[in-house]
Amino acid sequence: ETADVVILGAGPAGLVLGNLLQASGVDCLVVERADAAQVRTRARAGFLAANTVRILDRHGLAEGLHRRGREHSACEFRTQDGRFRLDYGSLGRGERHTVYPQQELVTDLLTHYQGAGGRISFRTEAVAVVGADGSRPEVTVRDPDGRPSRLHARYVAGCDGRHGAARRSLPPGAVRRHHLDHGLSWLGLLAQAPPSLDAVGYAVHPDGFAGHMARTPEVTRYYLQYQRGQAADAWSEQRIWDELALRMGAAEYGALHRGPIVQRTVVDLESDVLEPLRYGSLLLAGDAAALLSPSAAKGANLAVLEAEILAGALVDDLAHGDARGLERYSAQCLPYIWRAQEFSQWMLRLLHGPSGPDAESLFHNALRRARLESLRTSRSQQDWFAEHYVGV
Ligand code: FAD
Repeated sequence: ETADVVILGAGPAGLVLGNLLQASGVDCLVVERADAAQVRTRARAGFLAANTVRILDRHGLAEGLHRRGREHSACEFRTQDGRFRLDYGSLGRGERHTVYPQQELVTDLLTHYQGAGGRISFRTEAVAVVGADGSRPEVTVRDPDGRPSRLHARYVAGCDGRHGAARRSLPPGAVRRHHLDHGLSWLGLLAQAPPSLDAVGYAVHPDGFAGHMARTPEVTRYYLQYQRGQAADAWSEQRIWDELALRMGAAEYGALHRGPIVQRTVVDLESDVLEPLRYGSLLLAGDAAALLSPSAAKGANLAVLEAEILAGALVDDLAHGDARGLERYSAQCLPYIWRAQEFSQWMLRLLHGPSGPDAESLFHNALRRARLESLRTSRSQQDWFAEHYVGV
């Protein structure tokens, strides 16, 4: 099979790109390892930045999120010193999040893409991108029956995440990988229970971080800082709820709405950036380009931003013979990525501290307390926080 652009992966990056190319009449094909049902139900992110909504609006892809998403504009920090709330929607640039589960966004994007005649092969795993250093790259794939075949393209868009074929196909030394393992892990939970507070909750506790994020009126995401290497099912539901209640100060601030835990995932907090985001005719976007720690919920938002920039550049090249956008693509995206990395890292250091009784740990924890105090009391610090928290 042949397409001008073969897109690896049907996540937010791949499907925004597919929709935009399709709308501009560029011939493309999406290759996705999972089946359609998995793609439509995989619960991950949920907080869309104001700029993400503007991008989706610009291209007529935001109807579902306007109908079913909910605006969100407050967060609450709970610490040993008490709690404070930031109404970030009225700070900084006055922007809000839209809470819309990622699987619903992906479902909307997929429906729109297929409705416009977009081609997608499910249950087809990309194995490798070959010949990316030339102008006729190929993608080797395994079809649903496990048979190998080849797809021919002008460009390949690697939107297949951090463990995908795009990254694996980069020859050693072609692209630099900046990588940081934060040495921390979270147990990510989805509870079949209504949210327990009307804000994002960040609890900073001697036992570790705990987080609370609304998803829908019936489903809430929680996070618990968790020992690295511990299995996701190591704790009983009772223990999980007790630990969440303890770290979030439920005795003082109100009980949590408990319910069955319907999903558990251990997330090792790591960040990386590939530089540049291009190797010949292979272009990277989304998690394949850079992995953000989930501390500031930036990953899906960056994926959408990069997909829009990449779509514009590919259309300029393929429809108008102007390759300058593709030449600029990496340099244009990297500043956004690094700013998101910087803020995620700042959040990470705000929410986690070393646990030892040694002098250095005590010093770092005192700094962290001062940082939280500054966020509680300084209006300019709050404006800075709000701008970066909702912005991409
Ligand atoms: P993905 O969504 O990972 O999509 C990649 C696709 O490629 C998948 O469909 C996969 O099946 C497919 N694929 C992989 N390998 C192959 C292959 N070899 N061949 C074919 N197909 C392949 N981000 C936020 O902005 N806000 C949040 O609140 C947030 N919360 C998160 C919570 C959790 C628990 C996790 C895990 C992530 C969270 N993120 C959040 C990050 C966000 O989900 C990702 O950044 C986002 O999904 C990236 O989109 P993507 O399209 O690049 O990759």
